[in-house]
Amino acid sequence: MKRSLLVQSNFDVKIETILSRLEGVRKQGCGFAARCPAHQDRSPSLSLREGDGGRILIYCHAGCTAEAVTSSIGMTVGDLFPDDPKLRRPIPIPGVTRSRLREAAEIERGILFIVNADRHANKPVNVNDEARATLASQRIAMARRFGC
Ligand SMILES: [Zn+2]
Repeated sequence: MKRSLLVQSNFDVKIETILSRLEGVRKQGCGFAARCPAHQDRSPSLSLREGDGGRILIYCHAGCTAEAVTSSIGMTVGDLFPDDPKLRRPIPIPGVTRSRLREAAEIERGILFIVNADRHANKPVNVNDEARATLASQRIAMARRFGC
């Protein structure tokens, strides 16, 4: 991943601190999963990922609020937002938000999956499908540069 193409964001700066206060941390898609500190959590129910503008999105699948989660690790909800405007990483494509980019990447992964499934089943893959799969790979690689 060409991280150097990106400006460092609030997410990059603060995520290590937050993760160091959580247990059961593992990588999950664009972000991380961990055991929720606000309830008796045996399986990792807390998701953390980067939102638009470099803010940190946290979500407990058991329903704990962001306030409950942050206060359990000695922080506040305000800590999830950039305090330095320079740390609001923009998506360098006008009108494209991180969530839209993530959705688009999901669709492209689906296309690639279908073409690869045909290949594995030894079904003939025509030129158009081949070209579309190549485009899908390129788009996925681009989305990955932005952390998706
Ligand atoms: Zn929880």
